[in-house]
Amino acid sequence: MKIAVVGAGVVGIVTAYELALDGHSVTVLEKAAAACEGASFANNGVVAPSFTQPFSTPEWRGNGFTRLVRSARRLTRSPWRSGQQLKWLRRWTKLHSPHNLAEVQRHGQQLAAYSSACLTHVADACKLELERSDGQLLLLRTATVPDELQPVLEVLKAQDTLWKLLSADEAREHEPALHSAAPFQGALWLPGNQVVNCRQFALLLRQEAQRLGVQFRFNTVVEQLHVHTKPSLDLTSGDGPETQSFDHIVFCTGGLPDLLPAALRQSVPMMALHGYVLSVTVREPLNAPRSAVQDLQSGISINRLGQRIRVSGGAELGEDTNTKDDATVNQLYRALEQYYPGAANYPSGTQVWRGTRHLVADGMPLIGPSGLAGVSLNLGHGANGWTLACGSARLLADLVGAKDTALPTAHLLPTRFAA
Ligand SMILES: Cc1cc2nc3c(=O)[nH]c(=O)nc-3n(C[C@H](O)[C@H](O)[C@H](O)COP(=O)(O)OP(=O)(O)OC[C@H]3O[C@@H](n4cnc5c(N)ncnc54)[C@H](O)[C@@H]3O)c2cc1C
Repeated sequence: MKIAVVGAGVVGIVTAYELALDGHSVTVLEKAAAACEGASFANNGVVAPSFTQPFSTPEWRGNGFTRLVRSARRLTRSPWRSGQQLKWLRRWTKLHSPHNLAEVQRHGQQLAAYSSACLTHVADACKLELERSDGQLLLLRTATVPDELQPVLEVLKAQDTLWKLLSADEAREHEPALHSAAPFQGALWLPGNQVVNCRQFALLLRQEAQRLGVQFRFNTVVEQLHVHTKPSLDLTSGDGPETQSFDHIVFCTGGLPDLLPAALRQSVPMMALHGYVLSVTVREPLNAPRSAVQDLQSGISINRLGQRIRVSGGAELGEDTNTKDDATVNQLYRALEQYYPGAANYPSGTQVWRGTRHLVADGMPLIGPSGLAGVSLNLGHGANGWTLACGSARLLADLVGAKDTALPTAHLLPTRFAA
């Protein structure tokens, strides 16, 4: 089939690669001048088969109202929320109630584990040399596991995902540079989680996709979708406006683009959640993290990525204002100095990036037929998009090719919210 993939983030690139592997003729259309200029630009790089990314789930403790208030407080810097945000927050907390949390977590971990295996397979098959490291420590302010983590651990146990509760001293055996005064008394060690450079992976895989015949068109904005006998797209690029028809179109645009019909967009409870990543050069490797560390209380992650350290945190619901919140950014600097003093060389290169995660209220992405003939979606991966990218792409390619999928997909289909 002649297939268009809209979006050249990590999800679009792996999707194009998998579709080309299946023998399709694929063109990737991207409005930016280069690949991975959106959410895949400078993310934290954590591949978490345990599905433990911060902000991927709301607060679990308390009754419905308390969870709503706590979740809202965690996700916004402004005291007011729009009606639409409140509606989404209500749905998000409801769909993650203690009653169905284990089920949500099980689905997430199943896709995350499959994706992590697909990532290893693709990286090995293409002999990609990637910046990576193994293991993640979730730092606890107390020596015991807090109650709210118990449901997650139950699912981790049931799925044979390895984790271990460590004392602070044992945690330092994995991360010897953690400062002696850092505020933690224990940690959960997740040896199956890893840090892998997302953008590096996507850019290298783009070259492999091109070898398979995939065409990449940058500076090309997809303006309009038409669904007649064959789907077609109105495009604008340096060559002017044009219309192209395809046998199939896959949207890998992170969020739901406005050009999709209003009925489809309104049926899906999706919200944009902005976050920050501070990237700094390592000054002294002995003072720097070896792999990934996350302070569970603040949600701030500190990760090693080659010669850089990435510190990530903050979550802001709402419109993309492009303004950075100084208080959140300062919190990231403070966390790095608190946990790994002396690790960073700020003058030799510091980047503060504000990126956007598109979160579906039930925590799962939208993968598969959109309900419009010849149009599929692979988007809405939220805080776990890098973790889920490779498995989502393989599932999508199997669905497009009407093949059996490795996992059940009913809870991933974009049409699952339709009344
Ligand atoms: C601060 C932060 C930290 C994160 N950390 C992690 C992490 O540690 N681990 C993890 O698993 N995930 C993480 N994520 C999530 C992950 O980065 C994203 O889920 C993932 O990158 C999404 O990839 P994507 O390809 O779907 O979207 P994007 O990378 O945003 O790509 C979408 C592309 O579509 C293009 N596009 C959109 N509309 C059009 C149009 N009309 N015409 C043409 N092109 C269009 C855009 O220009 C863009 O390039 C993080 C996200 C953020 C913001």
